[in-house]
Amino acid sequence: MYIQVRLLKGFSEPLTYEVPQDWGAQNLIGQLVRVPIKTQLRSALVLKQFANLPSNNTFTIRQAHAIEPFPSDPHYTKFITLLSNYYQVESLHFVKRVQQFLVEKEMDEQVAGIEPLEERKKIILTDEQQKAVDFLAPYLENPTFIATVLHGVTGSGKTEVYKQLIEKNFMLHKNSLLLLPEVSLAIQFETLMRSQLRSDIPIFGFHSATPTKQKRLLWHALLTSQPIVIIGVHLPILLPLPNLGLIIIDEEHEIGYQEKKHPKVNSKEAAIWRAHIHNIPILLGSATPSLTSLYNVKTKGWHFFQLKNRFAGQFPKVKTVLLNDKRQRRNFWISKPLEDAMKDRLQKKEQTIIFLNRRGYSFFVQCKNCSFIFSCNNCSVSLTLHSDNKLTCHYCSFCTTVPSQCPACKQGESQFIKKGIGTQQVVSILEKLLPQARIARADMDTTLKKKEWQKTIEDFHAGNLDILVGTQTITKGYHFPNVTLVGVLWADLNLHFPVYNAAETTLQQLIQVAGRAGRQREESLVIIQTMIEHPIFSFLNEIDYVKFFNHEIEKRKEISYPPFIRLVEIELKHMHESTVDNEAIQLMTILLDAYEAINPDMMILGPAKPPVHKIKNTHARKIYIKGSSIQEIIALFHSVNRTRFRSQIFFTPNPVS
Ligand code: ADP
Ligand code: ZN
Repeated sequence: MYIQVRLLKGFSEPLTYEVPQDWGAQNLIGQLVRVPIKTQLRSALVLKQFANLPSNNTFTIRQAHAIEPFPSDPHYTKFITLLSNYYQVESLHFVKRVQQFLVEKEMDEQVAGIEPLEERKKIILTDEQQKAVDFLAPYLENPTFIATVLHGVTGSGKTEVYKQLIEKNFMLHKNSLLLLPEVSLAIQFETLMRSQLRSDIPIFGFHSATPTKQKRLLWHALLTSQPIVIIGVHLPILLPLPNLGLIIIDEEHEIGYQEKKHPKVNSKEAAIWRAHIHNIPILLGSATPSLTSLYNVKTKGWHFFQLKNRFAGQFPKVKTVLLNDKRQRRNFWISKPLEDAMKDRLQKKEQTIIFLNRRGYSFFVQCKNCSFIFSCNNCSVSLTLHSDNKLTCHYCSFCTTVPSQCPACKQGESQFIKKGIGTQQVVSILEKLLPQARIARADMDTTLKKKEWQKTIEDFHAGNLDILVGTQTITKGYHFPNVTLVGVLWADLNLHFPVYNAAETTLQQLIQVAGRAGRQREESLVIIQTMIEHPIFSFLNEIDYVKFFNHEIEKRKEISYPPFIRLVEIELKHMHESTVDNEAIQLMTILLDAYEAINPDMMILGPAKPPVHKIKNTHARKIYIKGSSIQEIIALFHSVNRTRFRSQIFFTPNPVS
């Protein structure tokens, strides 16, 4: 018996080895083995297995040394093959990724553990919670693939449902996988689960902040098939998982489930296939379920449960204010109703969150005289102005001082308009309007300084601050009991982002932000300031959110976007703009020549410069394919011989950002 293997590290040519007699007749494909290379032993993945050497073989064949212990997941190879086909990368990529990650040093990601941790208390589920648990429990005992969406308004107790199911699954000696859309949330959940689940349930994080020792312990638990809980973002789904019995995806609507780097694996999608292959239940929870999941409930027999009530507190009142109605205003960015509401909170010693989805001092700097905009030479994005009169790039951290005249028309600095607004500027405005208030900001700029961020959040939690100004980072997972006012400064900003799902993601974000108000209070208010009117503002009420589905789904159908069709993004990348430009056109031509033979209904768009088309001196172009079947799109992509291109070419189904 012989095997063909690929080294995990080192050259990529397949190598052939003889299988020692005493390994028996087992199937080795997909397993890791140790093989001799010169005088060393190296790890390699088995690609093929065959009984006889090809007759033209001219090499001396050495014997493989040993099989590396590998968790016994009978579905693993099938799953990895499926991923490899879907993202058009080699299976080896995924196996390698996990192996390398297991030995990598962790990143310092510790976020504030400010939640006063509740002791493990005896929970009596509400009827709504109990209904969801009772529905799913039988599928743990008699494993069956079943996908369920749990629409639970903010503060409704989705986590209690997860906890019950995980404990039941553990009692059946099976593994549970809990995925969150970002590392900071995964860390919060690990802490929460450790304090609240039965103490004999082993809980493992598996993400970039997990210490190497923990990762090894996790691997050991998998090798010995112990029942455990694994919490993470992207990586846990790539693990071989013996006895997998349950997958839970929290905040399932989040675009964070799609990896930022190629191949842009969407761990939520991968989890759904995995549940399918393992024939187990998967639960997708959110206060704002994705349109696609709701569509699957309508069309694919997915199940749907709702938690319509908050466990504590009441829903906030939501009020929309148009910013271009400038009456009685002291500052353009703070409407009269928002200013009054903030003053009222100050008087009552209650807290306010002001949300702005922007970082830095303001947007960009533009010359009034000639319209010149300062932009980054490396990245083709506008530079952001900071209060120290520095212009910086958000992608490559290029930094320069604002010049005294316009580089294009030589007019003086007085002609510069400093458009837009950032959190730092909001703080300055608020300090002028409300001199008695204690104000701080927490956004991406300041989160880079972890200690400061932690202190700010702790101060706000402890009531030492009246107003917190922040970006997305403050909307996720935190509970501030004394917050009774949330102001969204510029609610339509992200609506203008050039992606097809901008309305959906903007609405989801607004609801999540609004959900920060009134967690433990009877009366709270959310003020949404906007430049333009838009239909999404009529769906801000959490219960009404699902009605947005009917509104938006019609639009998607009209303009042919997911979930009605399959959308695939092909990205080309190269150092030289002319190369990527020419090759994008070549690739486009190949696709246009080939698609009719596969399915004339397919549509090919592009090539286009993405909004950010140059990052760290690499140029990018994108081509989009729309079609009714992913297999047909893959077949079309196969008419492209990637090795003939100098650009790197990446294939991303269902791009979400
Ligand atoms: P969600 O994740 O849906 O926003 P959480 O799961 O964080 O909500 O629940 C909000 C709060 O309500 C938590 O403090 C939780 O402990 C509490 N809670 C939820 N359900 C129950 C219950 N059945 N009994 C006691 N407390 C509950
Ligand atoms: Zn740059």
